[in-house]
Amino acid sequence: MKRFRFLTEVQAATIEPALSGKDILVQAKTGTGKTIGFLLPAIEKALRSPVRPKGTPILVLSPTRELAQQISTEAQTLLPQSDLRIITVTGGTRNPSTDLQKFLERDHDIVVATPGRLHDYFTGPRKTEAYEKFHGLQTLVLDEVDRLLDGGFARELDGVISMLPKTKRQNLFFSATISNNIKQVAKKYNDGSEYTFISTLKEDEMNVHQHVHQSYIITPFEKHIPTLLALLHLDSIKHPLPHVTTSTPSLSPGTTGPETLSKVMVFFPTARHVSFAMEVLSSESIKKSLPPLLEIHSRKSQSARTKAAGAFKNAKSAILLSSDVAARGIDFPGVTLVIQVGIPSSAEQYVHRLGRTARAGAKGQGIIILDPQEQPFYTTREMQKTTTISPYISSPSSHEAKELETYIQTYAQHVQNTLETVSANNPTVIGSAYVSFLGYYKGQARMMKWSSERLVEEANRYAKQVMGWTDALPPAISPKAVGMMGLKGVRGLNIMKPPRPEREQSRGDRRQ
Ligand code: UDP
Ligand code: MG
Repeated sequence: MKRFRFLTEVQAATIEPALSGKDILVQAKTGTGKTIGFLLPAIEKALRSPVRPKGTPILVLSPTRELAQQISTEAQTLLPQSDLRIITVTGGTRNPSTDLQKFLERDHDIVVATPGRLHDYFTGPRKTEAYEKFHGLQTLVLDEVDRLLDGGFARELDGVISMLPKTKRQNLFFSATISNNIKQVAKKYNDGSEYTFISTLKEDEMNVHQHVHQSYIITPFEKHIPTLLALLHLDSIKHPLPHVTTSTPSLSPGTTGPETLSKVMVFFPTARHVSFAMEVLSSESIKKSLPPLLEIHSRKSQSARTKAAGAFKNAKSAILLSSDVAARGIDFPGVTLVIQVGIPSSAEQYVHRLGRTARAGAKGQGIIILDPQEQPFYTTREMQKTTTISPYISSPSSHEAKELETYIQTYAQHVQNTLETVSANNPTVIGSAYVSFLGYYKGQARMMKWSSERLVEEANRYAKQVMGWTDALPPAISPKAVGMMGLKGVRGLNIMKPPRPEREQSRGDRRQ
């Protein structure tokens, strides 16, 4: 192996049990080399005892398409001289029937797949040929195992795993976050028997790298975007290119940003929130003071997703607005800052999002922006067990606090002007984000202590004050969406009449 001379901690802890054939469930922090941790023993075993006459020795499952692609690339670059045949099997491609044809007519050493597409193959017209490809399967890897087992993929995963050959195979399950519940669920996929649990976390150690500085800012929803912009701007000042370090870059919002190494991922609760933020941030007056903007989420075509991920990977400086599609596993080098706008869906998701920075020993910073009503999030038991966060501004009278506030106010004006254009030109982006707000915060209502009436009031206020919705009635919502969210009969909604048929969401697609 040319690239790496030493095993990382998790690789060192797992290589022997993995090579000795044990089924293992492994927990190690984000960005610590888990990918090679499972690829190396799986490949070693396949090379030592090839499957005869032919069959696929290694199957790796991943929750997202981008992660599947990354794992394939890692496997390829790990042993560039070898003739390992690796194929990636995911949704979102242009021509599924050609994909299937290729999958069936060639032999593979490693199949890296998302559960949905493989399940399609296993239930489609050529299903027998498809699962016979896994004749002689030696190793099954579940990367991001807790996400794969958290229920959202249950149908596909059950379908796929139950069709794998019944011969003895080895299971390698990996994640940065593994709860006790997941340990139980994992047994089901291990023929009900025990596996060896390996964690590189010390007892009582927090799940987040100590070298990531984390802080929170509590501010009302309507100030979230101006605050985000101020933070983006400050990060670009904090990371000047080496040759400009001697002169302090002087700039204010509205002027062209400095040449910078600032590379930031910004997470929002839903895909629609990302679309809305992209609309605002890409207005002329705002984007000219920032590094290049990119967006990634499930409402984009796969080719747009792949392009954005590639561009961000290679960029020296950029801002990637993201939903949880890029929260796990993806290795973007050089991310200086992760900003989370609003509460993440769980403490685990917080950890994975934050884990996009400070990878492989690098430095990084995390900031979460919360509405006062979202504050209970970081006092939940799960968060307390996971990490410690402190206020971003420790002293309100400090120079730092004043500087931040000045930027927020300047940006607030730009945002205000932009919102008028957005609501005039693109009301559907607001309408969709409004419905997403309802759906997302319905799921968080218990923690926020919101009744359904209160949820609707808050969403209506959000549409007006955050997104600049000007009509007297809130954005319209379909009766079907109301029914699905369990909001039938709740006051304050503007329900569409007559009902329009909605396209069904694709299976297993949780629209992150
Ligand atoms: N990496 C490394 N040494 C290794 C394996 C990986 O420095 O032995 C680098 C790898 O190139 C990547 C980063 O560490 O940039 C994170 O690896 P990975 O995505 O596997 O981490 P995970 O989050 O899965 O633990
Ligand atoms: Mg990983």
